Order: sequence, then C-alpha cells, then structure tokens
Amino acid sequence: MEKWPLGVFASVDAGLGVKLEVAHELGVPTIQLHTPAKPTRTQENAERFLAQLSDLGITITCVFGGFEGESYADIPTSRETVGLVPPATRAARVQELKEIADFTRMLGVDVVGVHIGFVPHETNDPLYDDVVRVTQVVCDHCQKNGQALHLETGQESADTLLRFIRDVERDNLFVNFDPANMILYGSGEPLEALRAIGSRVRSVHCKDALWSDQPGQTWGQEVPLGEGAVGMEDYLRTLDELGYTGPLTIEREIPQEPERQKAEIGGALDLLRSLKKKLAAV
Ligand code: MG
Repeated sequence: MEKWPLGVFASVDAGLGVKLEVAHELGVPTIQLHTPAKPTRTQENAERFLAQLSDLGITITCVFGGFEGESYADIPTSRETVGLVPPATRAARVQELKEIADFTRMLGVDVVGVHIGFVPHETNDPLYDDVVRVTQVVCDHCQKNGQALHLETGQESADTLLRFIRDVERDNLFVNFDPANMILYGSGEPLEALRAIGSRVRSVHCKDALWSDQPGQTWGQEVPLGEGAVGMEDYLRTLDELGYTGPLTIEREIPQEPERQKAEIGGALDLLRSLKKKLAAV
C-alpha cells in the first residue's frame, strides 16, 4: 500500500460514520468501519459486504467496536457510559467485543479499534486493575485471531495511556491516535502526546477541534479539518518523523447533517492531498 492512503470513518447500518456509497463518491481507497449491529455480524453478510467493497475498490483497515448505551453527550456522561470501564456493562461488552473481533476476522481485517473508556488516572483506583485485566482478555482473544487491538486516544493523557499499555503487557496492544480528542477532552497538547506515544501509534484519525474554555470539564468544539487547533501540517510532519506510513482516516461526526458532513469531508480530503504533496516535495 502507498504511504498515507486516505480514508474515512464509515458504517453500514447503526454505526457512526459516513455510508459506504459516500466513501466511494469521495474517492477514498480505505475506510475504518464502525462495527455493524449484532444481527448484521454474520458470515453471510461479511461475504456480501466484502464483495461490495471489492466492487467499490475500498479496503477496510480497522473495525471499530462500539456498544449500545454509549453516549458522548458531555464529558461526565461519556465517563459513565463509554467502553469497558463502567462496571455494570463490562462483562457483556467484553463478550461483545470478542464477537466483534470474530466478525472483523470474517472480513479479513487484522485491527480492532475501541474506545476503552476513561482509564482511571490513579493506579490504586480499584477500577484500574479491573480494566487492565479485561483488556488482557480482549488482547488475548484478538491474538488468537491474528489481530491487534488499537485504543482510541483522548480520554486520558499520553502518560496515563502509556502506563496503562505497559501494565496490560500485551504485544498486540497499540494506539489509534486522534489529535482532536486530546483537545476535546482537554487531556493534553496533541502533538506532544503523539511524540510521547510514538511507535505505539498504528492508526490515526484526522479530526480537528478547538479547546474548551474549561478543558477537561466541558467539551471543546469539533470543527472542519484545518480550522482547529491541531495544525494539520505539523500533525503530518510529526507522523512522518515517527515513521508512520499507515492510513489517514478522516473522522467527522455530524450524521444529522449528511450534506454538510460530505462537503466537509471533501474539504478535508483536499487538504490532506495538498499536504501530502507538499511534504513529499520537501
Ligand atoms: Mg476518533
């Protein structure tokens, strides 16, 4: 695969992200797929879906897990509802994530992504060891499938994330780096975090945001790529310095406004194409 193939976050049914047809119209060669809903995750559907993707000339680079009941309405709500951290839903979600990994294997994809939730910043928090343990369970399941698990960034600082990854002690645990989430959640300057996480970054989101006036308390604001505080040229330069050559996957979550979403992703693709050209020429 060429260096930095462009991509977009996409979905087939209930998930977040643009529809496949839109990805095709935008001319992107890769997608990260938000996991289809449970009834869709069958061998038959996987085969049909792969045939469709082959017709469209699109490759899936990662399947992202997601769970019913997750809400990103505000920071406290996402803390209580997202990923494998909330105790009440943890066992069922670990089981479901294993099933998502198995469906991902049916699609011939070797990367499973997930928002694991807010990892406690203090290692003496009893939740911390629990989350380490279930992450080991999921990593071991992925390992049997020949897959890596990529953790979405944002909810914790680079230091907390790195310590967590060390504590999980699994060779197939990596990071899907999202620079905008670092800003939205107020968890640290994104490019500094990117350098710190370094070679653990194995997939990325291209997304942009503005800081909240109360970082960590209230959301920052997601904005079109290039209009936020990330600094896309510096982002790509930093990825280059780290030797990252994988897909650049655009994520823009405004499904309630599909026309604007498509137009903004089109603008993001233009920006990334011109930056790729500029950096290759240097
Ligand atoms: Mg993201």
